Formats: sequence, C-alpha cells, structure tokens
Amino acid sequence: MILLDGKIASRAINEDLKQKLEKFQASDNQSPHLAAILIGNNPASETYVASKVKNCEAIGMRSTLIRFDEDVNDQELLKKIQMLNSDDDIDGILVQLPLTKQISEQEIINTISPLKDVDGFHPVNVGKMVLGLPTFISATPYGIMLMLKHYHIETAGKNIAVIGRSNIVGTPISILLSRNNSEGNATVTLCHSKTKNIHEICKKADIIIAAIGKHGFVTAEMVKQGAIVIDVGINRIKDSSKKSGYELTGDVDFKNVAPKCSYITPVPGGVGLMTIAALLMNTYNAFLTRRNIQD
Ligand code: NAP
Repeated sequence: MILLDGKIASRAINEDLKQKLEKFQASDNQSPHLAAILIGNNPASETYVASKVKNCEAIGMRSTLIRFDEDVNDQELLKKIQMLNSDDDIDGILVQLPLTKQISEQEIINTISPLKDVDGFHPVNVGKMVLGLPTFISATPYGIMLMLKHYHIETAGKNIAVIGRSNIVGTPISILLSRNNSEGNATVTLCHSKTKNIHEICKKADIIIAAIGKHGFVTAEMVKQGAIVIDVGINRIKDSSKKSGYELTGDVDFKNVAPKCSYITPVPGGVGLMTIAALLMNTYNAFLTRRNIQD
C-alpha cells in the first residue's frame, strides 16, 4: 500500500509557486493578494482559514483576513464583496463556508466576481468547468486531481465510485473524472443517500472517492483488493485523551481498508492539504489572468 501523502504532494506545488512568486517579487515587486472572509467563529472554519492564510504567507503570497460577527446581514457582506471586486489590488476572494443561517449562500457566491472567484463556486466558473473551458476549479476537486497527477495515477478506463454529490466536492469531481481528456476518461458512478447498492458499486470500483461526512462509512468489505481510496471526509470525533478534545477522522475506516489498497489518502494529511494548495494555484492563476501575464 502506498500512502497518497498530501504533505509531499502539496509541498511540491507550494515550492513551485513560491519560486514563481519570488521571480515576480524580484522583477516587478508584485505578488498575488487573496482576501478571505470569515463569518462568526466556527472552530473548524477558524482552523481552515488560519491554514489558508499561513500557507499564503509561506509561499510569499499576500492575504487579508476579513472578519464579520455571526449576526452580519447580507447587505453588509454583499457591500464588502463588491468593494473587493472593484479593488484592483485583490486577485482572489473567498468566503469561508458554511455561512450562518440568515445569509443566502448562493447570493454571496453570485456576487463574487467570476474573475476573482478562486473557490470556483460561481455559476459562471462551474459552467466553464462542466464544458471543459479554462476556469477556476473548486479547490477540493482540483486538489484531488493534483494528487492523482502527482502520484501518476491513471484514470482512463477506470471504474470510479464517488460517494457524496455536493456542489463543492462530489458533483465536480465526478464531472472532472468523466471528461474526455487525459485527466478524466473514467466511468464514474455518483452515489448519494438514495443510492440503493453502494456496497456493490464500491466493491467493483478501481477508485473510491468518499465525500460524505460520516466517520468510518467506507469499510473494508466495500473495497476490492488493490483499489485506490481517496478520503475527503473530515469528521471531528470526541476524544478526551486529545488536548483538543477531538480526533480528526475521514469517511474511511482507514485501519481496516488500507491493507487492501494499492493507494490511500490519510486523514489528516491527505486531501485537506491538497485543497489549500489548489486554492493557492487558483489565486496565482487569477493574478496572472488579471494582469495579463503568461505563466
Ligand atoms: P455535504 O454537502 O454534507 O454532502 C454530503 C453528501 O453525502 C450528500 O450528497 C449526501 O447525499 C451524501 N450522503 C450522506 N449520507 C450518505 C449515505 N448514508 N450514503 C450515501 N451518501 C450519503 O458534504 P461535503 O460538503 O461534500 O463534505 C463531505 C465531507 O468532506 C465532510 O466531512 C467535509 O467536512 C469534508 N470536506 C473536506 C474537504 C477537504 O479539503 N478535505 C473539503 C470539503 C469538504 P444527499 O445528496 O442524498 O443528501
């Protein structure tokens, strides 16, 4: 079994970006600038945003964290996003999801300029992704594609079971992997809570991608010998022996599934790190496109 190590794969991407940014800094004193909006103080969102900001800093990318109280209203947020849209110094905008209940997620996403939508959630960018046009691909599916590429995993002709059909993970990764190009060409089955025979579908899959949000959902019985397993899930399981009071786990029963796999991602240290690397790639590409620079 080979571990699909997000630390190794993301380090390669981040190092490459760092070197490119050093050149821009030296020649034109320019660097990309990411604006991250965080609403409230959800502990998981705090951790994710802090990681994004820290990773920007590590590669020499500028970032600004904009905080709003939990009770912020749509109008205030929309106004801020419009200001960031017209601020020439900002290359990428992300609003950390999930949002608090009173805010319309779709309206917020629709308001971000598609040219600065580095999370790739805007309908214009989703549409381009579906059509195979150059665009920002949302960070988690993009991170998974970068992970497969880093480990030279061939997808053409493979049977892939994707579990979970969210707009941010399951649906886009199923589209990307079934596209008619060298990174796709797989036969993808997209499973969800109404799928009747998930066990049989997974058992036949060469690659399983689990994005459900349920600790230990994928068991060893669901996985064929030699399969590749990508675990997107991030679940916080109470564990009083840990200083944080919880353990982070994925959607896969790693201990029992790993021995059957040819490749598997760990949680933590797998897809999560690739998601951040993909976000940095998107922000770098936004910077190039907005300033009309060739890579
Ligand atoms: P989501 O929006 O909550 O969607 C969950 C999906 O799982 C839904 O499509 C749901 O089906 C399906 N599902 C739930 N129970 C199921 C069951 N028993 N059998 C089959 N399908 C089932 O999830 P998400 O936002 O995609 O996130 C999924 C997980 O990935 C979460 O743990 C999240 O924290 C994690 N995540 C990780 C990263 C990362 O960077 N590593 C990024 C994003 C998300 P229905 O559509 O039928 O309801």
